[in-house]
Amino acid sequence: MMVDCLIVGQGIAGTVLSWELQKLGASFVIIDREDPRSSSRVAAGLYNPITGRNMVKTWKADAIFPILEPYYEELDQALGISSLHNTGIYRPFFSNEECNDWQAKWSSDEYSAFIKSVRGISIDHESIIDPLGGIMLRQAGYVDLDKLLTAYKKWLVAKGMYIDGLFTFDELSISEDRVTYREIQAQCLILCEGVNGGSRFFDWLPFTPVKGELMDVESSAEFDFILNRGVFMVPLGNGKCRVGSTYRKNSEMYFESAAETELKEKLSVIYTGEIGVTKRKVGIRPATKDRKPFIGRHPELRNIAIFNGFGSKGVSMAPYFAKEFSKHLILNRPIDKEVDIQRYYSLSS
Ligand SMILES: Cc1cc2nc3c(=O)[nH]c(=O)nc-3n(C[C@H](O)[C@H](O)[C@H](O)COP(=O)(O)OP(=O)(O)OC[C@H]3O[C@@H](n4cnc5c(N)ncnc54)[C@H](O)[C@@H]3O)c2cc1C
Repeated sequence: MMVDCLIVGQGIAGTVLSWELQKLGASFVIIDREDPRSSSRVAAGLYNPITGRNMVKTWKADAIFPILEPYYEELDQALGISSLHNTGIYRPFFSNEECNDWQAKWSSDEYSAFIKSVRGISIDHESIIDPLGGIMLRQAGYVDLDKLLTAYKKWLVAKGMYIDGLFTFDELSISEDRVTYREIQAQCLILCEGVNGGSRFFDWLPFTPVKGELMDVESSAEFDFILNRGVFMVPLGNGKCRVGSTYRKNSEMYFESAAETELKEKLSVIYTGEIGVTKRKVGIRPATKDRKPFIGRHPELRNIAIFNGFGSKGVSMAPYFAKEFSKHLILNRPIDKEVDIQRYYSLSS
């Protein structure tokens, strides 16, 4: 079999990159060993243009967010599913100053596109603690990644473009103009392995994996937006919610008991309803030292490339950079220097 690109990994990165490649007319095959503990399968899938303790616009938000919801709508339509939930995100205020600040920003060119409303009084929900009001963000919500990845895999399988199993580097041979893996010959090998990303060829890239834990809970409270302040609560319907996430600088794949305490404590600041934990989940985010993705070609083996390092923002960043990187691979367009792994070439030996 001859293809333009052989892709390893069908998390959100491999999914959107391959989708963009086919739009450019490139042929590909994906090898993936589906893992329920992989970052994309565990993730809550939130996209949020204004984040952090200081509530600032996320990096490249003005470029990344306007294409985001149309992008997932397009995928949903092609696959006949609804994985996109553009619910908005509600953040209660802790002070009147916060409220005044955001009232002013609401009419500014910088922030208005991302703010649906700013209110100085509570939304008056029986279980939400917001006596000083809060801000409702737009271009914000979540993508059900498990649903999206499962549907996309089915689509790939039907087209004969998915190989189920573990990719092993021992079976790979590389020549100047192609790579060969078993019976597949490809012009380019693209590694989208998530947290395994530093396994071969790219072990010099400074990955800094960050563990995350979240919980599925049952709760009687009904609301149709994401509640978020220090912790998020995503309504999934039928009395179910998802609560997360922790950030830990270790890669041990187990749910720590302290995580449940931490999430419940943080939630109790903004939510009074009873919750019953039904599932505890853990995963490792493929984060990077400078918090920018790792995208580009190997410094010497030019037909080997990486598309990885999306950290805690795979849902929002991967589509934008998949568009850019597919154009680099197929049309030889330049890559944004901030994400190009060229910035770390000096670390490769
Ligand atoms: C608890 C938690 C909460 C999160 N919440 C959010 C959120 O709300 N919003 C957000 O944007 N991001 C969130 N993230 C981060 C998000 O999950 C990542 O940014 C994203 O999923 C990374 O996708 P990926 O495709 O690079 O990697 P992965 O999802 O890890 O996918 C890699 C795929 O490659 C496969 N693979 C790897 N090596 C091989 C091999 N040798 N052979 C075959 N297959 C292979 C894996 O099995 C997997 O299927 C969260 C992460 C965690 C852990």
